[in-house]
Amino acid sequence: NATTAAQAMALEDGKAHPLRAGPHSTKFFELLESRRRLPVSREHQNFLDVYHKAQVMVLSSDTGSGKTTQIPQFVLFDEFASGKVVACTQPRRLAAVTAARRVAAEMDVQLGEEVGYSVRFDDCTTSDQTKLKYMTDGRLLREAMNDGNFSAYSCIIIDEAHERTKSTDILMALLKLAVASRPDLKVIIMSATIDTETFTSYFSGASTFQVLGRAHPVTINYLSEATPDYFFAALHTVKHIHEKMADGDILVFLTAVGEIEQFCSKLRDGLNNLEVLPLYASLSPLEQDKVFSRSSLRKCVVSTNVAETSVTIDGIVYVVDPGVSKQSGYNPRADLDILLTGPISKASARQRAGRAGRTRPGVCFRLYTEDTFNNTFIPTSIPGIFQSEIMSEILLLKTMGYNAVGRFDFITPPHTEVYLRGLQDLVALGYIADNGAITQKGRMAVKLPVHPAWYNAILESHKLGCSDEMISIAALASTQQSIFWRPYGPRYAADIAHRRFSCGQSDHISQLSAFHAYGHIREEMNVDQWCFDFFLCRRTLEEVIQIRRQLKGIAETMLGGPLKVAPFDANYKVIIRKALARGFYYRSAIKCEDQGSDIYVTVHGNHPAGIHPGSGLVGVNHEWVVYDTFLYTGKQYIQNVTAVDPDWLIDLEYFQDDKLSRKRGAGELRQPNVKLSLDKARAKRGQSSAHVPSTV
Ligand code: ADP
Ligand code: MG
Repeated sequence: NATTAAQAMALEDGKAHPLRAGPHSTKFFELLESRRRLPVSREHQNFLDVYHKAQVMVLSSDTGSGKTTQIPQFVLFDEFASGKVVACTQPRRLAAVTAARRVAAEMDVQLGEEVGYSVRFDDCTTSDQTKLKYMTDGRLLREAMNDGNFSAYSCIIIDEAHERTKSTDILMALLKLAVASRPDLKVIIMSATIDTETFTSYFSGASTFQVLGRAHPVTINYLSEATPDYFFAALHTVKHIHEKMADGDILVFLTAVGEIEQFCSKLRDGLNNLEVLPLYASLSPLEQDKVFSRSSLRKCVVSTNVAETSVTIDGIVYVVDPGVSKQSGYNPRADLDILLTGPISKASARQRAGRAGRTRPGVCFRLYTEDTFNNTFIPTSIPGIFQSEIMSEILLLKTMGYNAVGRFDFITPPHTEVYLRGLQDLVALGYIADNGAITQKGRMAVKLPVHPAWYNAILESHKLGCSDEMISIAALASTQQSIFWRPYGPRYAADIAHRRFSCGQSDHISQLSAFHAYGHIREEMNVDQWCFDFFLCRRTLEEVIQIRRQLKGIAETMLGGPLKVAPFDANYKVIIRKALARGFYYRSAIKCEDQGSDIYVTVHGNHPAGIHPGSGLVGVNHEWVVYDTFLYTGKQYIQNVTAVDPDWLIDLEYFQDDKLSRKRGAGELRQPNVKLSLDKARAKRGQSSAHVPSTV
């Protein structure tokens, strides 16, 4: 029942809407005309010819040629008779949502009906109606946990595969297995880079299909001398373009939200007749839409990496590329996340420049020297699997029955030490048994839509009577950004405003206080002003509410009853801190007496760390703390810190200083303070330091 391009086009040209009663709208025909001009559309039949013969296909074409919006529609038409769903994954939420909205408009249907999207904490699909589903790769991976054969789908399209996120990589491995057992399942790997060797050799026997773009030439300008300040150089460049150069919109790439907002406000202050538009994932849909709408003024879009390949803005003629992005790394020995601004890859630089030549010849200003490009930039960006810890991934694969995760067929396997560190921490949390098998607890933890470490904290909080609070705390820790807005300029003012919510014993409780305050005033009119005055990020707070709602449902099922709300008495903070201690003991640190104020060392590994400057615990003297993140951003910090009492830790198996705990990699309790302090706590409680059975 193979279809042809002509059949699909005849249906589109017809007066009647194929999916519902009534005619196509006028808007539909307007969009149709521009869709038909896309490079991908011209290859419609050729695409189908390859698609019909191949089970796995690797498709590449320039950004903006119609991959994300058109290919899924071609496939949908072809697979419609199967009654199954077509999925198209995106590494980013923003891209999944924008693509779904765009395609719903192109197909002239209501978003969420035939065409929908599914991203974490936001599902806009109708179970029996949705036939084309844009989703984040993480979302599809979650689904695969319960259905490794992807049986609901006829075709799975992995878009932006060149980004190589952790989820994309694992999905590709699972799909490689699934196609062997399901001859009717088709897979398309889409990438904006022509270098598809990695994918074709991984999926042996895959067909390749390349759509040649019709990009216009882009003139590349380099600096003759390196600049010490790319921010200033970028401002200067935009000013130059706006004042001296011909019409055409500008796209500037910067690294982070704070930086983008600061850049935008400087532009608005300094230049007239320029529409300045930020673009990043946490913007509201309304603000995002502005980027795509036409304007009578020249537009200057200031964006994160999201505009590099995943969304296309028409009309861009000038690109300003500072050559940097925020990059993550991970050091498994210290369990240390690294977040630094660093040089992009050559592939990224080419993508960025390509954005200027979409509609007519363009110009790219590279704010670095040609020599830097040639000699400093690495060829392609580093895959996500090398950039962070992989506890969730290990647990997920084990749940699916891939017990020997170390031998799992990754496209590029994680570093052995990262894998071992993940295992070690999972054993410490009780999610994996000594023999490497996943435990009952591990099976529960992996079901949470947040990091599995939160499962222990939620269990403990329920025993202590504060699970309602803990769910909020877990939600607060699971957003992309903090609710506390610390803009670059008025950072000091922000820190003062945040003191109103500050708890000197726990950043988790500080966040909870702000969240509760927001909950109380939320129904009032001036909530935006309130958020502004207290430097709180309203969108993030709303995101927390959504995460909380979903988490609550799952947790109540797991706990077998309603959450418990802690009475607001003298013990309120104590029980929350205690529950945190008994959930995050594997990330604990002890004050380092001889190193001056605010220097701690991590219990596992003995690494020095300061308290993050945004924390309410800075300058407060606590002996023991637990933390969410150990982060390097030029200095080593522990972030999201809660002070704990060693008395809450001593009966945990992790802190028994016998051979057993050492075998578990728990505490190579090298720091003499640790043993001393624990022994003191034991003496206080009237216990010996002999092994005491764990209750966690
Ligand atoms: P690719 O995935 O190959 O980069 P897309 O399918 O995303 O290309 O986009 C193809 C074209 O569709 C773009 O060049 C743009 O003209 C148009 N387009 C895509 N998304 C939107 C949108 N949200 N709003 C307006 N136009 C869009
Ligand atoms: Mg795309």
